[in-house]
Amino acid sequence: TNGCSNGKVARPAVPEIKFTKLFINGEFVNAVSGKTFETRDPRTGDVLARVAEGDKTDVDLAVKAARDAFEHGKWPRMSGYERSRIMNKFADLVEQHTEELAALDGADAGKLLLLGKIIDIPSAVQMLRYYAGAADKIHGEVLRVSGKYQGYTLKEPMGVVGVIIPWNFPTMMFFLKVSPALAAGCTVVVKPAEQTPLSALYYAHLAKQAGIPDGVINVVPGFGETAGAAISSHMDVDSVAFTGSTEIGRVIMEAAARSNLKTVSLELGGKSPMIIFDDADIDMAVNLSRLAIFFNKGEICVAGSRVYVQEGIYDEFVKKAVEAAQDWKVGDPFDVSSNMGPQVDQVQFERVLKYIEHGKSEGATLLTGGKPASDKGYYIEPTIFTDVKEEMKIAQDEIFGPVMCLMKFKTVEEAIEKANCTRYGLAAGIVTKSLDVANKVSRSVRAGTVWVNCYFAFDPDAPFGGYKMSGFGRDQGMAAMDKYLQVKSVITALPDSPW
Ligand code: ADP
Repeated sequence: TNGCSNGKVARPAVPEIKFTKLFINGEFVNAVSGKTFETRDPRTGDVLARVAEGDKTDVDLAVKAARDAFEHGKWPRMSGYERSRIMNKFADLVEQHTEELAALDGADAGKLLLLGKIIDIPSAVQMLRYYAGAADKIHGEVLRVSGKYQGYTLKEPMGVVGVIIPWNFPTMMFFLKVSPALAAGCTVVVKPAEQTPLSALYYAHLAKQAGIPDGVINVVPGFGETAGAAISSHMDVDSVAFTGSTEIGRVIMEAAARSNLKTVSLELGGKSPMIIFDDADIDMAVNLSRLAIFFNKGEICVAGSRVYVQEGIYDEFVKKAVEAAQDWKVGDPFDVSSNMGPQVDQVQFERVLKYIEHGKSEGATLLTGGKPASDKGYYIEPTIFTDVKEEMKIAQDEIFGPVMCLMKFKTVEEAIEKANCTRYGLAAGIVTKSLDVANKVSRSVRAGTVWVNCYFAFDPDAPFGGYKMSGFGRDQGMAAMDKYLQVKSVITALPDSPW
């Protein structure tokens, strides 16, 4: 064990790794270059598997397969009902492999096995079924055209979609993008993050078993600057759906602009405020704020990283928040008593520790945590800073780790102003018993999702995405279908008509 699980022996539980090659046109293949790269187990830093390393040449092959499947294959042409049936079968297969898939993401990304089984994999299954239900309900409108014409719109699949995703939720990210794209009749080339390529390859295998035709889903693991850039700058990719950092979102949009002006949707960073008012149930507020920042070790774009507490309950909140953080158990993600596993890799581990040093040197007060939680693996203690000022780096940058910044406010107006004092706008949390306060703040915060007296309450039907530099375009909900559909207006001349 890593030595920080207080007693319980963690199962080694590294799952058998079956798929490590690129998946192109329905086959697992080596990279043309023959190169491979390592993916590591963040619990130990040891190599978990060597995976085929796709680059531009392999992306070209994958795009060609996706193009052929789109132009000539059955998938875009079959009825929505048929697509729906196959997608439901795909969902059933994912569900049947829940245990194994949760273990795969657990070992590859350091995610809690238990939560993988009850959240990540079931949510992905639900997402697939939600969009399977949409596949036979895609239709346009009859237009009110003046003159002797009739008009209607057709919703047509966008074409070949490039999907570039991060490592924090390898499974959810895959299905957030792939499910609506499939429902729309698109074909996809997915580049999973280099840190966590394993589950995406498994999904490609299950998709084939479910009857998704060859070329419809292609998966090319590899690095951002090579495989990722080849997708975003490809002349034959119609759209890119991206989740990741704001910095790389900008690079992708530039590449799209310079190449073929493909459409782009970007779900980027966040620095989401959690706003707690005097009338809140304080224990509930402490629990929610702890969850909001320490869930998935803070590696979540909607992490509630800035906690604003009204002055009347501030001192009590601080005391309880520190106790709650100290009670949040860091340990092997395969141990059911752990609340939080290791950061995904050494780069993130060092990055988070550097931010903690920044916090200290900028004059914030470190209340708890602030250090590695083990001498092995990438574990970091749940960390809380207070006396944080809006202009400090730790209050402005997305840390992507278990670091809470606590701040005090007096009035509702001040809370709104401070909450909006960020370049990001992904999510916000509000804890209050007042309906008026909840309504006022919900409507004033510039963020794509607002959670009132809850946090992380995701649902496939709730559109999710950013304001400001958190990006644009929506995942989830019927709104996400728009990213994968073209709208065509068809206008037909009419003979004389009484209407
Ligand atoms: P994070 O900081 O969370 O690792 P990134 O934005 O760096 O997020 O990475 C998210 C995804 O974008 C990964 O799949 C990564 O490989 C990919 N990526 C990184 N750089 C580029 C790039 N220049 N072009 C295209 N994709 C990239």
